[in-house]
Amino acid sequence: MTKGIGSWGWHTVPQKHLQNRVLRFTQAKVIGGGSSINAQLYTRGVPADYDEWVSEEGSTGWGYEDVLPYFKKAENNQRFVNRFHGYQGPLGVSNPISPLPICEAYFQAGQELGIPFNPDFNGQTQEGLGYYQLTQFNARRSSTSIAYLKPISDRPNLSVMLNTMATRVIVESDRVVGVEVVQGRGSTPLVLRAQREVIVSSGAIGSPKLLMQSGIGPADHLRAVGVKVQHDLPGIGSNLQDHLDLFVIAECTGDHTYDKYNQPHHAAWAGIQYLLFKKGPVASSLFETGGFWYADCVEKARSPDIQFHLGLGSGIEAGVAKMQNSGVTLNTAYLRPRSRGTVRLSSSDPAAAPLLDPNYWSDPHDRVMGIKGLRLAREILQQPAMRRYVKAEVLPGSDLTSDEDLFQYACNHAKTDHHPVGTCKMGPASDVRSVVTPDLKLIGLEGIRVVDASVMPRVPSCNTNAPTIMVAEKGADHILGRI
Ligand SMILES: Cc1cc2nc3c(=O)[nH]c(=O)nc-3n(C[C@H](O)[C@H](O)[C@H](O)COP(=O)(O)OP(=O)(O)OC[C@H]3O[C@@H](n4cnc5c(N)ncnc54)[C@H](O)[C@@H]3O)c2cc1C
Repeated sequence: MTKGIGSWGWHTVPQKHLQNRVLRFTQAKVIGGGSSINAQLYTRGVPADYDEWVSEEGSTGWGYEDVLPYFKKAENNQRFVNRFHGYQGPLGVSNPISPLPICEAYFQAGQELGIPFNPDFNGQTQEGLGYYQLTQFNARRSSTSIAYLKPISDRPNLSVMLNTMATRVIVESDRVVGVEVVQGRGSTPLVLRAQREVIVSSGAIGSPKLLMQSGIGPADHLRAVGVKVQHDLPGIGSNLQDHLDLFVIAECTGDHTYDKYNQPHHAAWAGIQYLLFKKGPVASSLFETGGFWYADCVEKARSPDIQFHLGLGSGIEAGVAKMQNSGVTLNTAYLRPRSRGTVRLSSSDPAAAPLLDPNYWSDPHDRVMGIKGLRLAREILQQPAMRRYVKAEVLPGSDLTSDEDLFQYACNHAKTDHHPVGTCKMGPASDVRSVVTPDLKLIGLEGIRVVDASVMPRVPSCNTNAPTIMVAEKGADHILGRI
């Protein structure tokens, strides 16, 4: 199993609807979770995403007007302040400081296709192409660890245990009373007892995994892997959703992206540039340019359903042959997938990797929309404004034109956008699919809440870091009894 820096090294199970391909599924294994390793894109989705959490999923109290104050509370925005933005929170949010001229050409290409420029995807409208704001403050990553934990690290009621894995939550009668942890391989488990509540925040894969290895989850599955059932809660580990990413890679007409920094002397200069001027590729997220548009421009969806990420290089994605000049990548993802998957245990051993099945494209609608998004990305890169920068498409390649060709391409190259959510779904206690109620309390047990991306009943139409931080901000108010 290959593991990237700070990652668990997980993979999906063979994806039935992608010709049984196994996809790498990076999830952070580091303090601050994904916010410490992600591309730092700061996006929130659209009001309808949250309003549907209420109207379609029964997550009362989580409509857009309920959650907007928590997005703003979190935010220390270095550019905007208005109905949508604030600057008094801990989370640094700022505009990218190292875009390249090719980004501006990409905006013009959009305009040539009728897609407007948008200066703020989290404001009045999400439509258009533009720069993402980043979770950065003064050119430094603003992870949840840096933004939230570091400033309070000397509080007497806070202990941070690094290199420590929670192996189970401890259930006594109908109450969760603590957690068992291990510090390093083979060490004796340590039991930490809770005075009030246990808050599970292990992410959309880690939280259902931890709960199931504690005996909380679908009873038949737990029995099948030899875990003693403590509490039968069928929804745990179901309802897994993710954004599946397809991409176009093109060769540039010259050194127009950051690819050249793969060479040691350019890389050394990049380091010096960052140290001296806080600029250049080190300060870049490489994906700070993107946007939102419609898979189908005639039958427009209720809000954009395709997201773009312009990757300022080609080595970013696997599977591209070496090119003479630098390359550019345009990633695209369908934002409101109907496919649902699962997280299950492979064994009762907490150290074992989970069985991770996003079940991509099990709903054929997602495949149709994904391929439309790929075609749109291709069209953007072919606009006249791009000709100054783009020589030719390399992947999928001009020979691949039919839907079937592009399906084959997707089966070989699709990847996760790293947005898993939904596996401890929030909803009414009366709904058998619900895992937590809208105050994030786990249904059927006392003394436990789940607060992370897993509670989102549906994936919002965006990247998922800012929505997760919003869930945590609102969750804090629930825990403190303020709402
Ligand atoms: C490579 C990558 C790029 C991304 N890019 C972006 C982006 O640019 N913009 C954006 O908005 N979103 C992005 N995301 C998604 C975003 O980072 C996540 O949605 C967000 O971090 C989810 O937060 P979480 O707290 O739910 O889970 P996580 O961030 O996964 O945090 C869970 C934490 O719990 C720990 N954990 C799990 N199990 C245990 C256990 N048993 N014991 C102890 N600790 C445990 C994990 O190690 C991890 O540190 C990206 C994610 C990844 C992985």
